[in-house]
Amino acid sequence: MINININEMPIKLAIVGAGILGTSFAYWASRVCNASIIVFEKENGVGLHATYRNTGVIHRPFYLNPIKKRIFAKSAQLSYEKFWCKYAKEKKLPWEQIGTYKIAVNESDVKELYDYMKWGLENGMNKSELEFLDGKDVKKFEPYVKCLAAVLCKTDTAVDFKKFAEALRHDAEAFDVKFLMNCQVSRIKIKNGGLNIFIKGKDEPFQADYLINCAGGSSLSIAHSMNLGMEYTDLHFRGEYWVVEPSFGELIHRNIYSVPYVKEYPFLDPHFIVRYNGMREIGPNAVLVAGSQTYRGLANNPIELLNEIFEKPIINKLRLFIDKKFIELVSREWRSSLFKREMCNRVRRFIPELRSNYLIRRGIAGVRNSVINKKGFVPEAIELKNDYSCHIVNFNSPGATGAPAYSAYILNKLIREGFLSFNTSNSYELSRFKEIVNEFD
Ligand SMILES: Cc1cc2nc3c(=O)[nH]c(=O)nc-3n(C[C@H](O)[C@H](O)[C@H](O)COP(=O)(O)OP(=O)(O)OC[C@H]3O[C@@H](n4cnc5c(N)ncnc54)[C@H](O)[C@@H]3O)c2cc1C
Repeated sequence: MINININEMPIKLAIVGAGILGTSFAYWASRVCNASIIVFEKENGVGLHATYRNTGVIHRPFYLNPIKKRIFAKSAQLSYEKFWCKYAKEKKLPWEQIGTYKIAVNESDVKELYDYMKWGLENGMNKSELEFLDGKDVKKFEPYVKCLAAVLCKTDTAVDFKKFAEALRHDAEAFDVKFLMNCQVSRIKIKNGGLNIFIKGKDEPFQADYLINCAGGSSLSIAHSMNLGMEYTDLHFRGEYWVVEPSFGELIHRNIYSVPYVKEYPFLDPHFIVRYNGMREIGPNAVLVAGSQTYRGLANNPIELLNEIFEKPIINKLRLFIDKKFIELVSREWRSSLFKREMCNRVRRFIPELRSNYLIRRGIAGVRNSVINKKGFVPEAIELKNDYSCHIVNFNSPGATGAPAYSAYILNKLIREGFLSFNTSNSYELSRFKEIVNEFD
């Protein structure tokens, strides 16, 4: 129920979606842009989808290729260094520096670990954050972990991203941003030099001058509705977790991530995770499903499934579905969704004493929305723009880590391109903002 007539206010900038990205945009825009801001969120709270349903790790960017994943790596580094560390302390938000062992299970993975040591430094990390260990050293600290070698990243941190999004919302509201909850944007039309934004269940559209679309798994379909990004389609991979019985789980002290088995697809082997509240889980796998909110089964309904299969251009998905390796991986992921023992076996490669009866219940699943074009998976987030709107798609892991710096970077671009302007009265916030965005140049 919408009970506020926002058209009485001089709105200019509309943000769609109040996950970690939309709330980060709202936070910065309220401080540095000369605009009145409104956020449309279809749920009754912020951060209820990918922002909540994830692994909850502030990832340090040692495992990100500084060329192929430059923007994700920079965003993760700058968000940690110049935003989250201080913000979490100020707001008293959960912040547990658990650390991660990125481990090599096979000989061929060891070379990848040397790359990680190099990439970490290239991406701006401090030398003291990373350590290269052989399998015996790892055993001393983690007797239940079997590997050939590992990179220990001491500063990977367990957090609750939903709480971060709530804090950002609170801070944005303090600077007059209006959050309209239960408002699902259904259609956007360019009219009379501005935008008409239609909300499901409401006849009258809202008017705005500019729109930033951060609708997560729905971002691409919103962009398509404005004829943008028509060369892209998306695939949805549900990541499922299992909670590990504490008496076994607590024998392991840090996150254990294995080097990805295949690099060209977004299938990681499930990790062992230590949550900010001490809970231990394994996951996520990457189960191909029909929709961005398909948290159970293959599809929420048959129409969702048909739309997913026949999404144009069909060639994008067709290319993948005739690829034998891709199909093999999809079926492996589905097996680990259907059978707990399969999921357990994947982790037993590096924690051999894990037993499926130690996995006591399913955790909270989330969906990754990976964008593809005719060449395959796109490695970075994508901005799709026209004169009235900017749509962020493919904002995947470590998106939650990188959201504050990434949103600042995009806002700065929009200001440079003349779509938005600076509010120069707020000089302290402006200098914090510039400290981040200057690092992207
Ligand atoms: C399984 C999994 C594990 C992950 N682990 C990590 C991790 O450990 N660390 C990390 O940094 N990243 C991780 N990520 C990635 C990270 O969670 C995402 O990159 C990030 O949460 C994306 O944030 P978002 O705001 O774009 O999307 P979301 O959080 O999904 O927010 C989008 C918002 O838009 C709203 N919305 C959608 N459509 C509409 C509409 N039409 N109108 C109005 N509102 C709409 C939704 O309700 C939602 O609130 C993980 C992701 C997954 C799925």
